[in-house]
Amino acid sequence: MSDCVFCKIVAGTIPSTRVYEDEATLVFMDIGQVNPGHVLVALKAHAENLYAIDDAQAAALARTCRRVAQALRDAFSPEGLSVYQANGRAAGQTVFHYHVHLLPRHAGDGMELTWPVKNPPREALEAYAGRIRERLR
Ligand code: AMP
Ligand code: ZN
Repeated sequence: MSDCVFCKIVAGTIPSTRVYEDEATLVFMDIGQVNPGHVLVALKAHAENLYAIDDAQAAALARTCRRVAQALRDAFSPEGLSVYQANGRAAGQTVFHYHVHLLPRHAGDGMELTWPVKNPPREALEAYAGRIRERLR
């Protein structure tokens, strides 16, 4: 897509700091660096979000994430690693080209994800699960 910033990075028409690439994926440094070593694992082909990718693309992305996560662990010795992926504005997505954040974590690093649990009754869990199961393709 001509106006997509990550397509431009893939094409090399705007600068980026590349870490790794293969046929289907490109890994580059997130410009914001929430913590040192924060990278983005993106598909080379434009796809807006998780709903728009196929099984082969999902597999390629997961493979690259696993491989780069191990290198991140060796390079930065983080206490933890967050794997973050947003779909849609309401979920916090700001670049609409499918990508996964690999974010090295340290205690007290200021990265917060509020988790407002509702703890509904079992019947609600069963009803929610049924709605999903009926629609699995
Ligand atoms: P999100 O869509 O919320 O998952 O996040 C998009 C991420 O892309 C943010 O963390 C930005 O810092 C990062 N970003 C945006 N533009 C660039 C760029 N030109 N090079 C590297 N990272 C970028
Ligand atoms: Zn794109």
